[in-house]
Amino acid sequence: MPQNSNWKQVTVQTSSKDYPVFLGKGAIEQLPQLLGSFQKKPSKVLIVTDDIVANLYLSEIVSSLAPSFSVLTFVLPNGEEAKSFENYHAIQTYALENGLDRHSVIIALGGGVVGDIAGFVASTFMRGIKFIQVPTTLLAHDSAVGGKVAINHPLGKNMIGSFYQPEAVIYDVDFLNSLPDSEIRSGFAEVVKHSLIWDREFHQWINSNIHYLNDLTEDRLLVCLENGIKIKAEVVSNDEKETGLRAILNFGHTLGHALEAAYGYGKITHGDGVALGMLFATRLSEKLNPELQLSHNLSEAWKRYGFPTKVQSTVSPQQLLSWMKKDKKTQNSHIHMVLIQSVGRVEVRSVPDELILETLQEFY
Ligand code: NAD
Ligand code: ZN
Repeated sequence: MPQNSNWKQVTVQTSSKDYPVFLGKGAIEQLPQLLGSFQKKPSKVLIVTDDIVANLYLSEIVSSLAPSFSVLTFVLPNGEEAKSFENYHAIQTYALENGLDRHSVIIALGGGVVGDIAGFVASTFMRGIKFIQVPTTLLAHDSAVGGKVAINHPLGKNMIGSFYQPEAVIYDVDFLNSLPDSEIRSGFAEVVKHSLIWDREFHQWINSNIHYLNDLTEDRLLVCLENGIKIKAEVVSNDEKETGLRAILNFGHTLGHALEAAYGYGKITHGDGVALGMLFATRLSEKLNPELQLSHNLSEAWKRYGFPTKVQSTVSPQQLLSWMKKDKKTQNSHIHMVLIQSVGRVEVRSVPDELILETLQEFY
């Protein structure tokens, strides 16, 4: 366990529930106390994680809980493919076989994959039991907050899911020390997204302080996380179930998800896909609003961060267009995208297929 703890609390307020995010060094030490604070003591605690995270952190966390709670563990294979029906079923079976009941608690220990599938299990097991998000990736500052939980269908990512808020999020930044650079980059894309859609000042701070990923020192990471989580919480508190505003969080995701699907799940990280998607959406926004001049600067920054700025030649614009139409914002087969008006201000607009195809051509 980390030696010195130094964390702060951010509250997420939604129409269905308010809950705390404990953020900082040593925040994981809050876990036993949190479980102990529930009105009814958890009958069983099931930790769902993946094999990589299990090797690094599971035994320590089990030892910290075992004296007070009956702890079970379920280890998934790592990677996006784990967010499957088969694993969803396997976790439910394991929970039933091991006597979890309505007073049991699920802990999602891992990145967005673990958080999404474990949260979806929690939302449906016996019509819903408590769950706690313990994110271990930078990207999960996004996925662990806001209550979207899901698994993938072979026909589309995150197609089967629900809105289900955790009891709490415990975000210990010490977990990030073992994260590979490619995953830091992936999570950083969502940080930049939060700044672009909502907070000009934060975006300027990123531009002035983070020229390369190596500039993400522990202090700066904390600034990124705190701002990213606050922005996500603010958007979600306005629109928990995505009837309007929350859709802006999809900035970069219409093409991003299409790239993930077209390349094959796991071939490109979520964040790299979103980064290229944001660049594409920005370029499109400039075509509709020539006063906006942003894509050149973003493109230069993307090269410094190591984000992709081109689409792989193995997939055609037409193929990407077909994938983009599966986006949940599509209406009557018209693609709706989040476009940028200026840094900090975005809008959702219908975009004609021809403009999408023409703009995609620029990315080869
Ligand atoms: P991930 O969970 O696959 O984690 C990335 C990799 O890092 C995995 O190999 C994992 O084993 C490894 N890892 C995790 N923690 C580690 C650590 N501390 N040290 C070393 N390795 C570690 O992916 P992710 O990028 O965290 O999340 C992506 C998923 O999140 C996607 O499925 C996406 O759809 C979902 N998502 C959901 C939401 C939401 O609102 N629910 C938002 C954004 C993304
Ligand atoms: Zn995302």
